[in-house]
Amino acid sequence: MNAPAYLDYAATAPIDPAAVAAMTVAAAHWANPSSVHRAGRAAHAALEDAREGIARGLGCQPSALVFTSGGTEALGLALNGVVATRRLVSAVEHDAVRAQAAGAEIIPVDGEGRVDLDALEKLLAAGPALVAVMQANNETGALQPLADVQALVHAAGGRLLVDAVQGAGKIACPHGDFVAVSAHKLGGPPGVGALIARCAEDLVGVQRGGGQERGFRAGTENLPGIAGFAAALVARTADAGWQDRVGVLRDRLETRLRAAGAIVHGAGAPRLPTISNLAMPGVAASTQVMALDLAGFAVSAGAACSSGKVTTSHVLTAMGIAPALAGQSIRVSLGWLTTEAEIDGFAAAWEALAARQASRAA
Ligand code: PLP
Repeated sequence: MNAPAYLDYAATAPIDPAAVAAMTVAAAHWANPSSVHRAGRAAHAALEDAREGIARGLGCQPSALVFTSGGTEALGLALNGVVATRRLVSAVEHDAVRAQAAGAEIIPVDGEGRVDLDALEKLLAAGPALVAVMQANNETGALQPLADVQALVHAAGGRLLVDAVQGAGKIACPHGDFVAVSAHKLGGPPGVGALIARCAEDLVGVQRGGGQERGFRAGTENLPGIAGFAAALVARTADAGWQDRVGVLRDRLETRLRAAGAIVHGAGAPRLPTISNLAMPGVAASTQVMALDLAGFAVSAGAACSSGKVTTSHVLTAMGIAPALAGQSIRVSLGWLTTEAEIDGFAAAWEALAARQASRAA
């Protein structure tokens, strides 16, 4: 019997013990950080400490951080709050972008899921825009050519919004004008995130209420959550080698499963070391996810991270992958706690399922 394993870090990562400890300490500061009395001032100081830590970890000014309830809200704040006449979004953006950018023009991607820079340049020739391109794709891990994208956007007088929800805490945080991050993908609690607003002069707060977060995001700050976010980010950056260790495990998995018939989507792109998108031809993703779950391995169908329902992946479709094969693809996502034994156990379970399928088909 193989050791069971959680291989769904891209959906939500296990909460870090350091985050839990920091949240417990911060919870003692239960007063409102906006209150002027001593308890409020102590809560405010704890909030600003956490802000400084997160800014250090992400490489931005503390004053650029606007805390939100997560990545989705941070993206919505920029998509709805940045003053722009046009919005362009890449074809592989997360639903948190697509659903909040109704009417946006779509930037096509190549077969590896990377933005087509010529197409972007042509779109920008029609005028400046707020352009949303993610750092790392949540289904394949493919990294976007953000430096090139940003150069084109700025040359056209536009602004770049980067969804860095999957990359934050794993690779260097990008230098977009607006960058969205989320704590629960890097070992912090769910329900906390931030927008790095480097061009705050172009942003208008969309949530009305108290004047928290310099008027950009009304509502009493979630101090325990923010403290947990800060501690998790420290934990991720303190262990400088975990990404390389995980990359070796991911490569080991892909090499073994390719030999057993797997197709790896997006493998030709530079990728996060933590995500592998694997097709098992002939077997529906939902069947794979259930069979692997019974064998003790938690993975996702590519597009099912938030709602639990399995639909054809718009990411794989945009990459030109046939709908049938896209529907036979799962996402395996690793993290800092993933072990070789877990990966070998998962590979054995995948191979056993593929062999059962092959014998049925014979
Ligand atoms: N963007 C990407 C790429 C994601 O993977 C996710 C979560 O799955 C989000 C945005 C939404 O983040 P949150 O769950 O913090 O709202």
